[in-house]
Amino acid sequence: MCSRLAPFGTTIFAEMSALALATGSVNLGQGFPEGPGPELLRRVAVQAIEEGDNQYPPGAGVKQLLEAVSAHQAAEYGLGYDPATEVLVTAGATEAIAAAVLGLCEPGDDVLMLEPSYDSYGAVVAMAGANRVPVRLEHQGGRWVLTPGALERAVTDRSRLLLLNTPHNPTGKVLSDRELAEVADVCRRHDLIAVTDEVYEHLVFNGHRHRPLATLEGMRERTVCISSAGKSFSVTGWKVGWACAPSDLLGGVRAAKQFLTYVTPAPMQRAAAAALMATHELVPPLLAELEANRDLLAEGLAGVGLPVRGAEGTYFLTVDISAVTDLDAGTFCRQLPHRCGVVAVPCSVFYQDPEAGRHLVRFAFCKSRASIEQAVERLGRLEGGW
Ligand SMILES: *Cc1c(COP(=O)(O)O)cnc(C)c1O
Repeated sequence: MCSRLAPFGTTIFAEMSALALATGSVNLGQGFPEGPGPELLRRVAVQAIEEGDNQYPPGAGVKQLLEAVSAHQAAEYGLGYDPATEVLVTAGATEAIAAAVLGLCEPGDDVLMLEPSYDSYGAVVAMAGANRVPVRLEHQGGRWVLTPGALERAVTDRSRLLLLNTPHNPTGKVLSDRELAEVADVCRRHDLIAVTDEVYEHLVFNGHRHRPLATLEGMRERTVCISSAGKSFSVTGWKVGWACAPSDLLGGVRAAKQFLTYVTPAPMQRAAAAALMATHELVPPLLAELEANRDLLAEGLAGVGLPVRGAEGTYFLTVDISAVTDLDAGTFCRQLPHRCGVVAVPCSVFYQDPEAGRHLVRFAFCKSRASIEQAVERLGRLEGGW
C-alpha cells in the first residue's frame, strides 16, 4: 500500500460488524437501517431496469434527477441551481466529497474539517496530497460546540477548502445559527471554498430544520452543497448522491468525478428522483421512528451510567465512557459484544490523533425498534457491573 493511504488501511466498521456476527450481538456500530427501504423506491428502480434503462446515462446525471435535485433545493431552502449546469449526480455523497477535494485542491493545500470527522475525509485529503487540518468540536454543558474563534485560529495562508458536515456524524450535533454565521464569516474573509456534507439534512430532531451554509450571505457562490438519497430515504446501499454549486466550482468536481466512476447507475437515479419528489411523504415516518429510537437508546444508556452528548440529528449519538471505566474506547468496544451482546464503535477512529477520542463511543440508532429494545435490555445487565 502507498504511504499516503497506509494510515487508512482497514476500517473499524468491517471489524466490528464481523464481531457482531460472530457473537450474535445487536449491531449498533455501522450506520445502516435494517428495513428493505421504501416501497416507492424499490418499485421505480425495478421498473427502470425492466424498461431497459441499463446503459450509460449522461455524465452529469439523468435529467429527472437533476431537475428533482434543483426543485428540492429551491423548495426546501430557497436555493436556485440550474439543473443543466449547476447540479452533478455522483456515486453517493462519498464520491461527491472525494471529487470536490480532488478537483478543487492543489497538493499542499490545507483542508479544514470539524473533528471528530467522518472517516472518508482524512483519507481523501491524503489522496489529494493535501493537508488535513482538524478543528475540534468541544463538549460543554451536555452539548457539542464549535467554540468561538476555533476555526479562525486554524486558518493559514495555505487554507483552501473547508469540509463542513452538519447535521454531524459521529456526534449527532446540528450547527447553531451562531456557529454557521461564524463559519460563513471565516470562509468569506479568507476566501475559502466550503464543501458541505448535508447527507442528514432531513434527519433533524425536536422540530428543528436544517439550514444549509449556502443560504448565508455571500456563501452560495463559494459552496459545493452535497447530499444523497442513502440517509434521507433509508437506502444506504444505493449510493446515489449529488453536488450543487455555481458552474465554475462544479467544473472541478465534474472533472474528477468523470474519471472516478464516470457515471452513476441509471435506474437508481430514476428512483432517487421519484424519492426526492416525494420527500414529504417519505421522510416524516422515518424521522419519527428515528427520534423515538434515539430517546429509547439515550434513556437506556443514561440508565447504566452513560450520559449521552447531543443527538440533535443523524443516525448517531455519542457517550463518554470515562464515567464508568478506565478502558480506552477501542478496548471497550471490542469487549462489549462479549460482555453483553451489543456492538458500538470507538470514536478514536474519527480523530487524527486517536487519543483525543479515547473516551468516546458512538452508537447508531437507525435500527428496528426491536433491535434498540434488545440493545437497551442487554446494556441494562451491565448496570453497576462495569
Ligand atoms: C453516510 C455518510 C456519507 C456517505 O453517503 P453515501 O451517499 O452513502 O456515499 C457521507 N458523509 C457522512 C457524514 C455520512 O454519514
